[in-house]
Amino acid sequence: MAERTPSAESRLIHAGTQRVLGSPASPPLVPTSFFVSWGEPDAPRAYARNGNPGWEALEEALGALEGGEAVAFASGQAASMALLLALGEGRRRIVLPDDGYYNVRILADRLRPHGAEPVFVDQLDLVAVENALAGGLSVLWVETPSNPFLRVADLGRLGDLAASAGAPMAVDNTVATAALQKPLEFGAVASVYSLTKAASGHADVVLGAVVSRDRDLVEGLRSWRTVGGGIPGPFEAWLALRGLKTLHLRVARQSESAQAIARHLAGHPRIRSVHYPGADPATAATASRQLPHGGGPLLSFELDGSAAEADAVIAASTLVVPATSFGGVESTWERRARWASETAPEALIRLSVGLEPAGELIADIDRSLEAGHPAPRRSPA
Ligand code: PLP
Repeated sequence: MAERTPSAESRLIHAGTQRVLGSPASPPLVPTSFFVSWGEPDAPRAYARNGNPGWEALEEALGALEGGEAVAFASGQAASMALLLALGEGRRRIVLPDDGYYNVRILADRLRPHGAEPVFVDQLDLVAVENALAGGLSVLWVETPSNPFLRVADLGRLGDLAASAGAPMAVDNTVATAALQKPLEFGAVASVYSLTKAASGHADVVLGAVVSRDRDLVEGLRSWRTVGGGIPGPFEAWLALRGLKTLHLRVARQSESAQAIARHLAGHPRIRSVHYPGADPATAATASRQLPHGGGPLLSFELDGSAAEADAVIAASTLVVPATSFGGVESTWERRARWASETAPEALIRLSVGLEPAGELIADIDRSLEAGHPAPRRSPA
């Protein structure tokens, strides 16, 4: 009987473990700053900024999940910085989304003196992207679904535009994760993550990674990690690997609940608009092609009211935690415009759907929308 290759889901569950007599159920945690090397110049690892068995186990899991090689970093930002530096070398422009995670725009702007100029475009406007790529040797940076508007960019068409312009395409896959979306299959040279979010999934680590099939790029990223020092902590890598093992289950449940909540909120009288992958008719077909198994844990909605009213709604919840970040087992929400560099409207609330039963979440959100209602104005006496 022909031997079957285990699925990515199975491979990530077994990553880093061995079928050797007496070996442990999970890869050992190795906290160390050096490895014995007997003066060998090319000893494996030698100094712990070069490697740790715990990162390697995590990288094996992430690589299996996405069909590439993974390089883990200290945070999503450290991963994005190494990727921008590696891809930007010798290029004139980094073409980035004008929405999406605002700190990536800040990062690209800070890296301007190192060569490539950031050019911000609407990634749903393919003509604008094509024109931006025509302005000089470029890198195309895509974020889909985007944070916090959950806009879905067409990876296949963007990949074609990037290929005809000779531009490598990098995709921030933080929101959906590789359990739901596989950018490398749409022509991306790299998929970049904040593992802090749904990938690790328990709100207990800050970590990042890049996955690629391009050997030179992978080597370049490892080299940036070693010399730049943005290395993962061994315990963080261990926790992230543990979280990853349940990724498929978590994001399937979160997507189902988020979809139900998005539908419920769309008919709510206090809400002006709801954003979730597939909800916008203009990109619904792209969403079902790119995200066939669900849209992920994140949604956002704009309250028909002021910033103070949105704050009151958030404060009224007893189940959803008023906090930033997303993708954890616990639901969280925040008013995005509280961050100075965010482009979101004043009353936009971003909600990360956790693993609490959807019905309980809907009841809590409804109560909060009711309790956070502004008191009716008294007419002057
Ligand atoms: N990419 C996206 C889409 C994010 O939302 C974030 C953080 O919120 C990052 C990257 C940066 O990741 P980290 O906070 O792990 O540095």
